[in-house]
Amino acid sequence: MSSQYPIIVLAEHDQGELKPTTWEGLGLARGIQAHFAGPLRLVILGDSLKEIGKHLAEQSGEEVLAIQTPGLSGYHPEVYLQVLADAFALRLPAFIIIPHTSQSWDLAPRLALRLKLACLTGITKIVPEGNGLGFLKPLYGGKINAQLEPATAGAVLTFEPGYFKWTGAPADRPGSCEFKTVSSQPPPSELLERIPARETGADLRAAEIIVAAGRGISRPENLDLVQSLAKRLPRSAVAGSRPLCDLGWLKYNQQVGLTGATVSPKLYLALGISGAYQHVAGMKDSGFIVSVNRDPRAAILNWSDLVIVEDLETFLPLLIETIQNLRRESN
Ligand SMILES: Cc1cc2nc3c(=O)[nH]c(=O)nc-3n(C[C@H](O)[C@H](O)[C@H](O)COP(=O)(O)OP(=O)(O)OC[C@H]3O[C@@H](n4cnc5c(N)ncnc54)[C@H](O)[C@@H]3O)c2cc1C
Repeated sequence: MSSQYPIIVLAEHDQGELKPTTWEGLGLARGIQAHFAGPLRLVILGDSLKEIGKHLAEQSGEEVLAIQTPGLSGYHPEVYLQVLADAFALRLPAFIIIPHTSQSWDLAPRLALRLKLACLTGITKIVPEGNGLGFLKPLYGGKINAQLEPATAGAVLTFEPGYFKWTGAPADRPGSCEFKTVSSQPPPSELLERIPARETGADLRAAEIIVAAGRGISRPENLDLVQSLAKRLPRSAVAGSRPLCDLGWLKYNQQVGLTGATVSPKLYLALGISGAYQHVAGMKDSGFIVSVNRDPRAAILNWSDLVIVEDLETFLPLLIETIQNLRRESN
């Protein structure tokens, strides 16, 4: 493989703002570099990239290629595909790193197919394997992991947000940005409207204790028990998993996870939550995680500091009663 830049990281941005996944992609690239020698390059696409391209180079300390495409005002998978496939066709990278987010996950398989590379999606960990590299991908809501290795000389990788950290730019590297302008064919689909993302819970981020309910609470009436528990805990807030918001039992600004809020309270109580990686991505950095689940093999247990294997309908009334009794005794 003759390539000047074996590792390519695709920067994600929206309306002039770089998304945190850009830095996480850089974290994954650095992790790969610990086992695989070769330079990396950040690539950013858009209409007018003068400011953001320079900013990316300064912040990352890396070499940036800013590909300006007239008329590309936001993410468009078909235009991204054309431009990136052309950019890499002659110098095939070893890894093309793309965030596994709704902005980019429709790009990765198409790009891999076009470049005849393997496509490993939703990876959460690097696993060094002899002279090569493997990657873990959670399956069945995080209950098990598949270990994947590319069978081609290069691979397109998408990574789950929240799993790779970037520790900052090396002090001795200023970074640089090369600008290139390319035109693209009119894409076969058109973006009609941008609908802003749902508001996420600002007060969840301020809470020191989060009492989070999952589908395991079984009935909407049991939310009263969850609320009642939260009321007895100082500086607390009630949150939940996405199915409860989809059911209308909780508001969307109470959803924790990939498509909800990212929180890191001192204490996170996961009540009847299975631990799907989309949920875990939003709460795994909490100070102390307690989970209550009747399944002793639920994936959330892998992330918990304390596990209570019990039916919630038995456990919650007992916990609330115990807190009440302790309060009475201390008054
Ligand atoms: C693109 C995408 C984005 C997503 N984003 C998010 C997100 O941001 N946040 C999110 O939460 N999810 C998200 N999801 C959904 C996610 O994949 C899971 O489906 C969801 O997190 C599962 O919610 P849950 O744990 O409440 O329910 P389940 O997976 O149904 O788990 C219920 C748990 O409760 C336990 N249980 C059942 N009854 C009892 C009982 N009586 N007592 C004790 N335990 C009991 C079960 O053992 C089980 O572990 C997303 C999915 C996709 C595809």
